[in-house]
Amino acid sequence: MSFKSAYLSDLMERVEKRNPGEPEFHQAVREVLESLEPVIEAHPEYVEAGIIESIVEPERIIKFRVPWVDDNGKVQVNRGFRVQFNSAIGPYKGGLRFHPSVYEGIIKFLGFEQVFKNSLTGLPIGGGKGGSDFDPKGKSDAEVMRFCQSFMTELSKHIGADTDVPAGDIGVGGREIGYLFGQYKRLRNEFTGVLTGKGLSYGGSLARTEATGYGLCYFTKEMLKDAGTSFEGKTVVVSGSGNVAIYATEKATELGGKVVALSDSNGYIYDKDGVDLKAVKQLKEVERKRIKEYVKDHPNAEYHEGCSGIWTIKCDIALPCATQNEINEESAKALVQNGVMAVAEGANMPSTPEAIAVFQNAGILFGPAKAANAGGVATSALEMSQNSMRYSWTFEEVDAKLHDIMVNIYHNCATAAKTYHMDGNLVAGANIAGFLKVADAMKWHGVV
Ligand code: NDP
Repeated sequence: MSFKSAYLSDLMERVEKRNPGEPEFHQAVREVLESLEPVIEAHPEYVEAGIIESIVEPERIIKFRVPWVDDNGKVQVNRGFRVQFNSAIGPYKGGLRFHPSVYEGIIKFLGFEQVFKNSLTGLPIGGGKGGSDFDPKGKSDAEVMRFCQSFMTELSKHIGADTDVPAGDIGVGGREIGYLFGQYKRLRNEFTGVLTGKGLSYGGSLARTEATGYGLCYFTKEMLKDAGTSFEGKTVVVSGSGNVAIYATEKATELGGKVVALSDSNGYIYDKDGVDLKAVKQLKEVERKRIKEYVKDHPNAEYHEGCSGIWTIKCDIALPCATQNEINEESAKALVQNGVMAVAEGANMPSTPEAIAVFQNAGILFGPAKAANAGGVATSALEMSQNSMRYSWTFEEVDAKLHDIMVNIYHNCATAAKTYHMDGNLVAGANIAGFLKVADAMKWHGVV
């Protein structure tokens, strides 16, 4: 889509020129700017105050060397990143990703998305993201620990409970957060809520592990309810088999859906009777094995190599929970042809712009990542609140707050879309609702 506004068109061109070789970042910015066309018409003051130019530029980018020693005594060198994108409404907040595909452009795209997502939660958190091209897969616990300690030795200079509070993302779960927290505490000699996703014995919040997947299903439930339907009796396909995918599967099943497929970066399983989540948890959370192992003990299930085939499985609801751009136009068409009625994004930007267009043109209910997967960061903010109070809420209390937050996010997005004459377009609704709060705060702060 091209821009009607010459201002937005010029700005997009500048973003592409200033950030060469970062297609994921361009994609994320373009989507937001497209949604803002009617907003800048109604609010020219944001353009006059330079808010849109500022919002696409990170406040700070930190890039550093991460040297560590492997089990053979050999020195390995990775790259670390932290992008502190926007702190207008609160301390920077956003996960750390450890994956070989990580480079500056990926972290910038994720940090940019995080600004709007965090705003949508209604909680006082700014946007940031970080990570490394380190691959925890196949590494021993001792290697992961040494890497995390080296990573935190540098990162600790730039974060803090009131400055920047990282969390987990792909490749960063409870084990990594533990090592990172331990090193921060040792370096700074302080016990503060500087990371979220912590273990329960040292300041973690109940329901944080489940939050992104559960939140995704609460959002989807509300979206379905608005359309007069529910999860009850629906066939669901979930991609990935990590943190988000596992707990999305758990909640979708609890709400009456039947999840028939899961995947990892090598391939996918199809179990027409509904996946045995206990077995998946054992494989992925305890044994850290590949998803294909599942079929060994489940002879009725099938394993297929390759990731995109999962979208050819007939389903009512699709929940992509693996990674960016995992649903392209062809996969979206296959889903639509097979009668999918709702797609909600657990992963960040899992659908390409062409795929989103296919869903929207077909009138499919579509919940964009910024809104649908905000439950993780929202619960991280609840973890920060509990740490500040030196108190902890019960699982039920946190889960109830998460539920209310997700219901509110859905309605705020739907209302924003309606107000700007794009009824039903939750992509635009999420971008607009997320933008308005941050832009207002930035206006109050002056040119900073
Ligand atoms: P995990 O590392 O726990 O799991 C990631 C899953 O996705 C794994 O099954 C992994 O397979 C698969 N995957 C990763 N990269 C690829 C790829 N290139 N192609 C296909 N599959 C891939 O991560 P999370 O579950 O935490 O994160 C999943 C998504 O959700 C990410 O987009 C993340 O940004 C987003 N998210 C996570 C939040 C959280 O709270 N954890 C919050 C909000 C969003 P394999 O094991 O083979 O690599």
